[in-house]
Order: sequence, then C-alpha cells, then structure tokens
Amino acid sequence: MHNVVIMGSGCAGNTAAIYAARANLKPLVISGHEAGGQLSLTTLVENFPGFPEGINGPDLVENMKKQAMHFGAEYLHGAVIDTDLSQRPFRLNVEGEWIETRTLIVATGASARWLGIESEQKLIGKGVSSCATCDGFFYRGRKIMVIGGGDSAMEEANFLSRFGSEVTLVHRREEFRAAKIMLARAHQNPKIKFLTNTVVEEVHDVSKGIVTGVRLRDVKAGRVWEQDVDGFFLAIGHIPNTKVFKGQIETDADGYILSKGGARTNIAGVFHAGDVQDRTYRQAITAAGAGCMAAIEVERFLEAEGH
Ligand code: NAP
Repeated sequence: MHNVVIMGSGCAGNTAAIYAARANLKPLVISGHEAGGQLSLTTLVENFPGFPEGINGPDLVENMKKQAMHFGAEYLHGAVIDTDLSQRPFRLNVEGEWIETRTLIVATGASARWLGIESEQKLIGKGVSSCATCDGFFYRGRKIMVIGGGDSAMEEANFLSRFGSEVTLVHRREEFRAAKIMLARAHQNPKIKFLTNTVVEEVHDVSKGIVTGVRLRDVKAGRVWEQDVDGFFLAIGHIPNTKVFKGQIETDADGYILSKGGARTNIAGVFHAGDVQDRTYRQAITAAGAGCMAAIEVERFLEAEGH
C-alpha cells in the first residue's frame, strides 16, 4: 500500500515527487508513456527561473528526477492502463499489475495532437513527426514543413531551420495564436516561408512508406497544389491524458481535469498537477508549482486521516 502514487514524470510529477519525498511519504512515480513529459521533447528552456543562461529541457527534467530520488522517491517505468477510483484505497493497473494507494496525484500531462488524416497516421515515424527536437536531426539539408500557428509551431520552425534546407510553415487561417515575439522571430528567419489560410489534404507517399510531399489547399482561393516535403512536423497543440480516468475524474469537454480548488479533483484523495488540468499557462514553472501544491495537499490530507 502506497501513501501516494504520482502518475507522470514531467515537471509537475517530478516536483510533486520532490515535495512528497521530503515529507517522508515515499512517493511512487509511474513514469508513463512519455517519460519526462513535454520538457524532454524540447531544447533550450530560457524562462525557467534560476538559469540565466537557459537550460536544456531534458537536463532540467532529469535533474528534477535525481533530486526526487535523492529524497527517496521511487520511479516505476510503465503506464497505468486502468484505474478504480470508486473506493479507497485507489487501485491502479500498471501494465497488468494492480497496485493500491491512499492518495493519487495525476500529473499525466497532455500529448501531441495529430491532424487525423489517414496518410499522416500511416507515415508517423516515416517522415511524419510531432517532435522537432527528437527528429529534426534526420532532415539535415532536406525540405521541412511545420503545421500550426501557435508558439510551438514558431519555436519548432525556428529550431528546424537549423537542419532543413527550407522550412514551410503552414497555418489554417490568417491570424496567429503565437506570441508577437515568437512570430517575429520566425518571420525574420530567412529559411522560413509562411503559407496561411492553407490546410493539408494528403501526405504522400503511403505506397512508398516515406514522406515525399503533401497536397495543400488554400481555403480562401480554393487552389489545390502539390509540394515536395521530406519532413512533416505537427505543432497543433495537445490532448490531455485523462482517458484512463474516464467517468471517474470530472473533466471539461476537451478532457482537461476540472479543478475543485487548489489541486483538488472531484474525488477526495485524488489531486491534479500540471498540463492535465491547465489549459491556460502550460509552462514548466507553472507545472512545477502545481506539483508542489498537489504534494502539500496530499501531505495535509494524509495527516488529517492520521497516516
Ligand atoms: P496552441 O497555442 O493551442 O496552438 C495550436 C495551433 O495549431 C493553432 O494555431 C491552431 O490553429 C492549430 N491547429 C489546431 N488544430 C489544428 C488542426 N486540426 N489543423 C490545423 N491546425 C490546427 O498550441 P501550442 O502552440 O502547442 O502552444 C500550447 C501552449 O504552450 C501555449 O500556451 C503556448 O503559449 C505555450 N508555448 C510556449 C512556448 C514558449 O513560450 N517558448 C513554446 C511553445 C508553447 P487555430 O489558431 O486556427 O486554432
């Protein structure tokens, strides 16, 4: 029987683990499908306080994990495939094995969104990617396309311009969601070309098992054309990882956990931390703060129960 299980090993989960471990709760962290969370998929993080020169995302999250382990947190590789939160202790199925816990911190984050076109899905890992930092290296000197109009798209287009011969940024409308400074940086980059009011109809070539190009459509002019592409990168947002709690933890229509104040969910003893609940800020530092809050709430919750 665990005092507290933390699902997720990104900024939120690791910070919760540091606090819970220092409170002698011997937390168990279940790493999840995307160990390290979004930080492990990024390069330089310039806005995490305390690092005036910036720090690499994977290093930052790995340091957090080391810090938590130093205080006694345990990490389990694997993912929770089923949950029973209907009574306490809560039960979690970790890849076939059920474990029990008095409290739960849900720090499962949000995963990359795909366009959902059949050809895109078939070519994932064969030229289609949702992670510029993971896969950019493979497209040295090649033609790259980035889809999206938010900060991620700008960041990824800039990052990918280090590798590609050219980067085409495709966005479905005229206005951008990205912050002005991020947009300006991308506009100033001579390697990045912008295509607005444009959508992807098809990714070629499924028959060859590799990305060779795309069919695009100008949604205003109606023009349809083909463009050669080697690397096709999605940067169109994220989907919260709450499927495994469906019908138990209350979420909004998009699946983000509904907070009941502080780090509380609708289930007493289940707390949220990070991007799985936060669709507004979604920053490393806010996720870390949320992890801290969740751990403090767990500590108080268990103390009130006499554990
Ligand atoms: P986002 O802000 O939600 O932007 C998603 C973009 O993808 C939007 O432009 C959206 O278009 C487009 N999109 C969504 N679904 C689409 C579809 N099916 N087909 C085509 N386009 C689609 O997501 P994000 O850029 O990943 O950013 C998430 C959060 O992280 C934001 O709060 C952002 O500020 C933050 N962030 C910050 C930094 C930084 O400061 N360094 C870097 C990355 C991310 P519409 O605009 O038309 O809806």
